[in-house]
Amino acid sequence: MADREKIERAVTLLLEGMGEDPSREGLAETPSRIARMYEEIFAGIGKTPESYLGKTFSAEGSGMVLEKGIVFYSTCEHHLLPFYGKAHVAYLPDGKVVGLSKLARAVEVYARRPQLQERLTAQIADALMEYLQPKGAMVMVEAEHMCMAMRGIKKPGAQTVTVVSRGVFAEEKELREEFFQMVGR
Ligand code: ZN
Repeated sequence: MADREKIERAVTLLLEGMGEDPSREGLAETPSRIARMYEEIFAGIGKTPESYLGKTFSAEGSGMVLEKGIVFYSTCEHHLLPFYGKAHVAYLPDGKVVGLSKLARAVEVYARRPQLQERLTAQIADALMEYLQPKGAMVMVEAEHMCMAMRGIKKPGAQTVTVVSRGVFAEEKELREEFFQMVGR
């Protein structure tokens, strides 16, 4: 649980440090606004997707399950600026499947925390392996990073793509190719 009061004090100090006047009209409510917003956008801190992926259904003989284009918003832990885009999440069940909306929920748990795209991608794949015990899992994340667009090398529109494969997806090139084809890559 976030400490709202601490965040408010920190934001006030941050504004002062920037050379701003935290008491001027437009900024007066900003610390409390940010504290409330942080509760939402960092709601995944310390959470696992167990409540979403823990309930499975049996589905023998099921082929690859792919949920593509899951829109997510996350925060780069190096700059505390947003990165956002789409996650494509696949697994090859070994008798157990999960409700489709639960995959998007699992993505959200890992996105709503200070994060790195590489870690986000791996955490989603590892959670699928842990909770569903599938034959394999594969996750691709495509995102734009505001820390790249707004500062430094200033490359708006650049997409960072990360891919993680586990189990049979790591072992079999054909499965990875099937995944890329289904994702439309
Ligand atoms: Zn960054």
